[in-house]
Amino acid sequence: MTQKRIGLFCFTNDLRLHDNPALMRANLLLDELLCLYVSSSSANSPSPYSMTNAGPSKTLFLQQSLANLEQNLSAIGQRLVCLQGQANEVINSVLEKIGITDVFRSDNAGWYENQVWRALQQKHPAIRFHTIASHTLFEIEDFPFALSELPPSFSKFKNAIKDCLPIKPISTLSYLPPQPAAASEVLAAFNVFDMTLDSSRGYSDSSSNLSSGKKESLFSGGETAGLRHLTDYFETSKPSHYKEVRNAIDGWDNSCKFSPWLANGCLSAREIYSALLDYEHEREANDSTYWIYFELLWREYFHWYASKHGATLFSFSGIKGLSPLNSFYPERFQKWRNGSTPYPIVNACMNELKATGFLSNRGRQIVASCFINELSMDWRYGAAYFESVLIDYDVASNWGNWQYLAGVGADTRGKRHFNLEKQTQQFDPNGRYIELWQGNQDLAPLDSVDAADWPI
Ligand SMILES: Cc1cc2nc3c(=O)[nH]c(=O)nc-3n(C[C@H](O)[C@H](O)[C@H](O)COP(=O)(O)OP(=O)(O)OC[C@H]3O[C@@H](n4cnc5c(N)ncnc54)[C@H](O)[C@@H]3O)c2cc1C
Repeated sequence: MTQKRIGLFCFTNDLRLHDNPALMRANLLLDELLCLYVSSSSANSPSPYSMTNAGPSKTLFLQQSLANLEQNLSAIGQRLVCLQGQANEVINSVLEKIGITDVFRSDNAGWYENQVWRALQQKHPAIRFHTIASHTLFEIEDFPFALSELPPSFSKFKNAIKDCLPIKPISTLSYLPPQPAAASEVLAAFNVFDMTLDSSRGYSDSSSNLSSGKKESLFSGGETAGLRHLTDYFETSKPSHYKEVRNAIDGWDNSCKFSPWLANGCLSAREIYSALLDYEHEREANDSTYWIYFELLWREYFHWYASKHGATLFSFSGIKGLSPLNSFYPERFQKWRNGSTPYPIVNACMNELKATGFLSNRGRQIVASCFINELSMDWRYGAAYFESVLIDYDVASNWGNWQYLAGVGADTRGKRHFNLEKQTQQFDPNGRYIELWQGNQDLAPLDSVDAADWPI
């Protein structure tokens, strides 16, 4: 008699049933399946940069996404078990207590996540571990180079893959094997992660504007909201004008606003690409529609960049091994974080980020450049703050972009210094954005003491 195959599926940044190749593989191979999400975020476990792990908007988005996944799983007879704790300890205990034969997860660019995975594999040699690419447009085998040969800059990467076509999305799962009978009893002893907080908040109409004066996020987590946003976006003519407006500092309609759903895996990048192709066939293909693909390629590049460089993604001297003359100044850091620097445009951006967990790409570039250049701060503290508040936090895109701007990453041109006055004139000529986000309210000098420690 063949042994029953009992699987554990570890959801991470793939909180969806559509186009989920890892879950599909589990579905094909298993007799029974336990669907698990482990939350290691806790106000009591600060990151190495003394930042608590998650701001309120980020936590809410995640909880909404998990609650929606639970709903979608229960519609096909499964359920989601959400446990709190360190991923390695929790998964290890589950493996030991339930007779798991196979563990599945989606590919992850995170160095820490991969360390956990490797340690579990070593500890449980009799269990089969499966990792399947579902976060990206391509698999590494699709490229004409090995991961170790990933081109050193985005433009070289883009040219090298110009003849490669993204993978087509697969169909939505409508069936999964049942949960192992013993699971409920065994799991009763674990620390459950509460995903019910305010999950009832509705999805905001995408025709509203981030600048509507409402100082809370318009994003609502979950696969259902993400797919609705995808449909809504491509039903309009916005894709045809994307390139003209994408750089704006503000406004719901200017960029795609896919990133929070993408980062949590509520939306698949391949599904977005497929919707883009449909739009191009049915409506129009122009520079702007190409530019949506171009931006998705940035995300793709940073994923493979993080996979290649591992822990170097987080090192001060970056992949270039350069040591910037920057340091950590607690007062400057607090002023940047709280929107009370001498620079109104930076303050407005930081206030928006704090209130909503989101900031335009332009805003992110401005505040990161200010952090590195005007404040002379160690870029890693800025990246760690973004990690704690962004609802679209993605390990590869966040740390990769920060390295790039700090001049220690994938940019051949060295560090980027944005002129704050010019940026203000160009992107907020009427001061509307600064007024909305009260960038002028708490202007303060960067330091309250001079170089000799005398109060200013
Ligand atoms: C310092 C800094 C930190 C960042 N941190 C993150 C992060 O943690 N998570 C994240 O998803 N993006 C990050 N970005 C990239 C970018 O700012 C956001 O992806 C974008 O603003 C999200 O808005 P959107 O979905 O409307 O994207 P659009 O501008 O419409 O772009 C479409 C999609 O392309 C991808 N994309 C666009 N620009 C980039 C880029 N520079 N790098 C990687 N992917 C990109 C995103 O998936 C995005 O959803 C960061 C950028 C900077 C400068």
